[in-house]
Amino acid sequence: MPALLIKNGLAVDPVRGEARLDLLLEGGRVARLSPRIPPPRGAAVFDAAGLWVFPGFIDVHVHAREPGAEGSETIATAAEAAAAGGVTSVLLMPNTSPAMAAPALLRRYAARAAAAPVNVYFSAAATSGRAGAAPAPLAALKRAGARAFTDDGAALPPRLLPELIRRAAALGVPLLDHPEDFALTGRGVCHPRAAARLGLPPIPDRAEWLAVLRGALAAAGAGPLHLQHLSLAASLAALRLAKRAGWPVTGETCPHYFALSERDIRRDDANFKMKPPLRSEADRLAVVKALADGTLDIIATDHAPHAAALKAGGFRRAPFGVVGLETLAPLCVTELALKRAVTRPRLAALLSGNPARLLGLRRKGSLAPGSDADVTVLDPRRARPVPPLFASRSANSPFVGRRLAGWPVLTVVGGRVVHAAR
Ligand SMILES: [Zn+2]
Repeated sequence: MPALLIKNGLAVDPVRGEARLDLLLEGGRVARLSPRIPPPRGAAVFDAAGLWVFPGFIDVHVHAREPGAEGSETIATAAEAAAAGGVTSVLLMPNTSPAMAAPALLRRYAARAAAAPVNVYFSAAATSGRAGAAPAPLAALKRAGARAFTDDGAALPPRLLPELIRRAAALGVPLLDHPEDFALTGRGVCHPRAAARLGLPPIPDRAEWLAVLRGALAAAGAGPLHLQHLSLAASLAALRLAKRAGWPVTGETCPHYFALSERDIRRDDANFKMKPPLRSEADRLAVVKALADGTLDIIATDHAPHAAALKAGGFRRAPFGVVGLETLAPLCVTELALKRAVTRPRLAALLSGNPARLLGLRRKGSLAPGSDADVTVLDPRRARPVPPLFASRSANSPFVGRRLAGWPVLTVVGGRVVHAAR
């Protein structure tokens, strides 16, 4: 593979900050990062003048639907969507059918995913069969390649939470929780105000924040816990206090929670149906603040593809979830960076540095020499509407038609260009 020199871009690093620098990728690693690097003989040169050069984005929350729902997505199409979206590494969720709860299954799909254009990591179910009754064989799942444990789609059972936290901590594998009290959610499908407007059953806020409180308290006594897709001011207040107390909790949110609120749901359109649901405008503003002040650690997509026929049933019948891999970058650029709500280095931490740390990927999450040559280059200047079709097999996005800037123009994984667009 020839060396690749990315010239004249604004290099953005979570730790070193930002500067106009050239970036030389060689042998799968970052070889140099400094002003005016002369192109080595035979190197490909990419002129990134006016563009932003980030360490490759790492999305710790992706549903690739394989095995079980290949009509909506496969590992191969999710990886293509990731490359198109500037995402160089993904962590797949285990709520497939069958669930990623057995070492042999994990090995089989991990071997298959090795051919993907981006780094594909697998999480495994935290409870046996993802059924919530007893812990899964965590040590064996780690040996089979699991990078994280979670029952995402379902919450970790409060009764098992302290034990799961202790076991995952002993193995040095992150434990991720989908914080939701399903008894409180019941048959709810959206925020109470949208529900009243559209005549639908509501999801009460406390279904999330009660689970966040339980998780934070359990982590205080036992070890690290990562809280997925946080969406409420109350959850973020709890996370802020837990961190202030020194409890080992981290949190993620998703672009739809800082780019949309329940007010955007104008009709019975299931492309606005996800879990947790779109919240109030005050909650949306609290998410933006928590991204800026360090309360939230990670932006992940919760990329949840569903075939069009499944989403056609309206809010009451359609499954929860929206696609996100291909709109992640422009939503972060348009809604956070260009509005000066979040700095670019902080964005690099949220999209790359902190996810790398969560997953223990020591050579990722930075542009420092010696790092893996995973790079995401964005164009902040040109805005265009979100197209109705994606590299993903599904198109269930609430953002179709929305004008955004910050689209990925170059995605590099291990020194190899896996997506280029100008
Ligand atoms: Zn979830």
